Amino acid sequence: MAAIQELRCVVGGCRFAPGEQDYACPHHGELGTLDVVYDYAALRASLDRDAISAGQTANHWRYLPLLPLACDSQLPPQAVGWTPLYHAPRLAEKLGARHVWVKDEGLNPTGSLKDRASSLVVARALQAGIEVVATASTGNAAAALAGLGAGLEQIATVIFVPRDAPPAKIAQPLVYGAQVFLVDGSYDDAYELCTRACAAFGWYSRNTGVNPFTTEGKKTVALEIAEQMGWRAPDVVAVSVGDGSIISGIYKGFFDLLQLGWIEKMPRLLGVQAAGSAALADAWRAGLAPSAITRRVVNTIADSIAAELPRDRSKALRAVRETQGAFVTVSDAHILKAIPLLGKLCGVFAEPAAAAATAGVEQALAKGIIDRDSDICIVSTGNGLKDIARVRQSVASARSLPADVDVALGRLEGIGLL
Ligand SMILES: *Cc1c(COP(=O)(O)O)cnc(C)c1O
Ligand SMILES: [Zn+2]
Repeated sequence: MAAIQELRCVVGGCRFAPGEQDYACPHHGELGTLDVVYDYAALRASLDRDAISAGQTANHWRYLPLLPLACDSQLPPQAVGWTPLYHAPRLAEKLGARHVWVKDEGLNPTGSLKDRASSLVVARALQAGIEVVATASTGNAAAALAGLGAGLEQIATVIFVPRDAPPAKIAQPLVYGAQVFLVDGSYDDAYELCTRACAAFGWYSRNTGVNPFTTEGKKTVALEIAEQMGWRAPDVVAVSVGDGSIISGIYKGFFDLLQLGWIEKMPRLLGVQAAGSAALADAWRAGLAPSAITRRVVNTIADSIAAELPRDRSKALRAVRETQGAFVTVSDAHILKAIPLLGKLCGVFAEPAAAAATAGVEQALAKGIIDRDSDICIVSTGNGLKDIARVRQSVASARSLPADVDVALGRLEGIGLL
C-alpha cells in the first residue's frame, strides 16, 4: 500500500489531506482535477523494483505498493493488466520506424484499458463501504465498471451510455448485471446526467476526470511498459485521446517511476485524436489553457474518443506539454486503414479508437514530429470485438465458395496466399 501524502489540484496547486476530497478541487471546479501525491522518499526507501519483477502476480495488482489502497484491501478478482507488450518489427517497417512495440490492452477482462481504472475505483469503493458506483461512458468504461463490480454482492453499478453506442458495449454491462440506462444524447449528455445523479442520490462517481483514482488505475499501463522493457522508458508512447484520462494516467505512471528513480527519463507522449473530435489537439497547437476549451460538436467513427468537452483536459495538456510531446489528428479513413495494419502485421485486433494511435504514429513519423530512430510504444487501448460493424469496414469482404468440394477446390487452385 502506498500512503497518500496529499491530493493536489492540477490547476492551482491547492492541497488537500487524503480523504478530504473525493473529486475535483472545490476552488477550481471540474478543471481542477487532483493528483494523488505519495511520499516518494519513503517509497524509494521501502520498495524494490526487482522484488516486483520477481513476484508472481500476473496482473496489475503487482503494483499494489504504488497504488492508493490498503494492503488488506478486498480486490476485485478479475485479472486486469499485465497485458502483452509485443515487439513489432513488421509494423515498424511499414510505419517507417526502427523499433515499435504494441501494448495490447484489448486483452483485459472486458476488452479495454478502462478495466485498470474501474478495478481501482471498485477496490476503493469496497474499502470505503460504498454501495453504488456510477459512470457515464461511451461504452468501454461502462463495460469495465460493470465487469469489475460483477460478483460483488455489496456493490451495485449504474451505467449511463449514449443510445447509439456499439451494441457489444451495451450488451456487456447488461450481462454483468449493471443497471444500464441508454441516454438519448451524446456521451457528454450522459456525463452531465451521471454527475447530477451522483450528487442527488449520493452515488460514488467513477466518471473520467472528476475521480482522481481513475488516473491511478490507468497509470499501471505505464508501469507495465517500463517493467516489460527492462525498467526503461521508451522514447515515445503513443495513445489515442478522447477525454484525456488515459494519457494523463500514462504520464502519472512514468512520473511516479521517475520520482522513485526506477527509470531515467520521461517518454515523450504522443496524443492522437480523431480529426472530428480534436479539442485537445487544437488547444495544444494554439497554446491555449485548459480553461479556454469549450464544448463542441464532434463526429468520428472512433466512438471511444468522441468527446465534446474532454473531461481530463487539464491533466492531458500537462502530460503532452511537460514531456515535450505532441498531439496529432487523424482522419476516420486513416483510422480504418490502421486496423488491418495492426491485425496483419502484429496480430493485434483493435477497435477504431485503439487503432487511431497507430495512424497517429504513422503521421507523426511522416511529419518528422517523432524521429524514426526512436523507441516507440503504441498503446492499443481496446479490442476489435467491441465494434465488429466498423472493424469490418476496414477490410475487403471474404470470398465465397460453393458447397460442392470439387468445384471449391478448383477455385482454390492457383490462389496466392502470401
Ligand atoms: C476511453 C478510450 C480511449 C480514450 O481515453 P480517454 O481517457 O478518453 O482519452 C481510447 N481508446 C479506447 C478503446 C477507449 O476505451
Ligand atoms: Zn484548486
